[in-house]
Amino acid sequence: MKKGELLYSGKAKSVFLTDDPGQLILYFRNDTSAFDGEKVEQLNRKGMVNNKFNAFIMERLAAAGVATHFEALLSETESIVKRLDMIPVECVVRNIAAGSICKRLGVEEGIDLEVPTFEFFLKNDALHDPMINEYHIRSFGWAGADEVEIMKSRTFEVNEILKALFREAGILLVDFKLEFGRYGDAILLGDEFTPDGCRLWDAKTREKLDKDRFRRNLGRVVESYEAVALRLGLDVDLPVTSAAAQ
Ligand code: ADP
Ligand code: UDP
Repeated sequence: MKKGELLYSGKAKSVFLTDDPGQLILYFRNDTSAFDGEKVEQLNRKGMVNNKFNAFIMERLAAAGVATHFEALLSETESIVKRLDMIPVECVVRNIAAGSICKRLGVEEGIDLEVPTFEFFLKNDALHDPMINEYHIRSFGWAGADEVEIMKSRTFEVNEILKALFREAGILLVDFKLEFGRYGDAILLGDEFTPDGCRLWDAKTREKLDKDRFRRNLGRVVESYEAVALRLGLDVDLPVTSAAAQ
């Protein structure tokens, strides 16, 4: 595996080509952003923690039958993934009201939803990721009807798998965002699942353990991510030893 040119750089990760046209390297940086990139800081160790956190979750999802882009850890801060043709929408499932839905609907943070709810957002920083519906996605050709159904049902499936995983660790999965992409005829889960893209609360105290600590200046951001990892049984201090890393 040879690392090639930078393909693109997002707000928190950089994506590199490799000598295999079907594979990319995701480099998890320490950059942490919120409010559409208005607040940006470097948080020590975050790239390493998120790289390993993501690998752990992607492997759990694959074991539960969810097709993902994840291939292997390459280094402390890099992973090898399948190169996807990304669908430019964000799929959000919520179990408890928090974040943008509270502002939008005037509901109180912390309300347990009767059933999990689903929202699509267009991935477009300049437009502040506006909420869209499945007709927008089909009408503008961002994805077809079958792809929309797959993204929705997979996101709900991921919710059930991860709700149970976090529940066992005494953590509530409040909400999360997923991105999908095309790989040949298949739709695979892409991007990442880390505390940067979900809300996690301690089940007893409802203490925030995710990126809201950064958004709200609560401190101990990466420490909380690491504590969640430990509660799931993942020690991020163990060095990467996969075959791909040799
Ligand atoms: P953002 O785009 O929100 O600033 P990142 O900093 O995480 O986010 O950038 C990572 C970029 O890589 C995103 O645009 C994401 O859609 C893209 N990406 C994630 N996984 C893959 C993949 N397997 N193939 C191609 N692109 C991917
Ligand atoms: N989310 C994300 N990237 C985005 C927008 C949202 O990872 O560009 C995640 C966010 O961390 C939360 C969930 O999606 O876990 C729902 O986010 P919300 O719509 O409440 O927006 P926020 O107020 O967090 O920006």
